[in-house]
Amino acid sequence: MIRFEHVSVTYEDAAGPALRDVDLTVPEGELVLVVGPSGTGKSTLLGAVSGLVPHFTGGTLGGRVTVDGRDTRVHPPRELADLVGTVGQDPLAHFVTDTVEDELAYGMESLGLAPAVMRRRVEETLDLLGLADLRDRPIATLSGGQQQRVAIGSVLTTHPKVLVLDEPTSALDPSAAEDVLAVLQRLVHDLGTTVLMAEHRLERVVQYADRVLLLPDAVLGTPAEIMAVSPVYPPVVGLGRVAGWDPLPLTVRDARRRAGGLKARLADRPAPVPVRAPAAPARPEPAAAAAPPARTRLP
Ligand code: ADP
Ligand code: MG
Repeated sequence: MIRFEHVSVTYEDAAGPALRDVDLTVPEGELVLVVGPSGTGKSTLLGAVSGLVPHFTGGTLGGRVTVDGRDTRVHPPRELADLVGTVGQDPLAHFVTDTVEDELAYGMESLGLAPAVMRRRVEETLDLLGLADLRDRPIATLSGGQQQRVAIGSVLTTHPKVLVLDEPTSALDPSAAEDVLAVLQRLVHDLGTTVLMAEHRLERVVQYADRVLLLPDAVLGTPAEIMAVSPVYPPVVGLGRVAGWDPLPLTVRDARRRAGGLKARLADRPAPVPVRAPAAPARPEPAAAAAPPARTRLP
């Protein structure tokens, strides 16, 4: 469904390429998670699929990216809108109308569909994303998770075969993130949508992935294969690595199942001697360092 043929992207004035010789295929109907340390090209890779790279970002794209056979260098994002839906981290940056229903309808307006078809697709999407009760609500009054579901809904009404999401749950609390991920899983399972998603909160998403793509080397493998070698991994994978579990656990539930044996092994060892904590530093740690990053919003 998505094909990268020896793709490199170099931004203007950059010292080196942001993506280097990426060559891979994402099959139809899979949920592929893109991971890698910050700055390794996750957003660039997603942008090359949605056409944002290079049409809006500038820079040069070498090689070829095709989505369902359509070359994204030839087609800017608006010519891909019927094929690729794109959702970012901040849903508010997406919205062009004020209410849920209007926002869902808006994405179809450039497609020249009959009003009855548009009406039906809005209804389908409201149902699919659990938004029917919110249809008349001003978007500004919704929670972050509801807004993100509206953002996803607004690109689904064009019936895209591919959904590209750049850190869609990063700004959400855990339960809102779960709602959004449940929606994505339903799209993959029920509609056969191909989903390409970058997310640095791996503990939330790795269990949903069919495959994981690790940057900057662009290695594609099963979640367990990639988590065994990735420099970024969720805590539960860290535990599995230390304990030497194979296959690695990807969820807390997996880890709990394996933990019985670990408990028995640890029971044979002498109890650890408590270590006295060093004297408290004279100066308290600055509080700002521990505070979570503020959610970025456009004015
Ligand atoms: P990630 O999403 O993994 O953090 P990015 O794709 O955003 O990585 O960035 C990869 C590299 O390209 C970084 O060095 C970043 O600074 C640079 N970069 C990203 N977007 C642009 C842009 N629009 N113009 C110039 N450089 C960019
Ligand atoms: Mg990014």
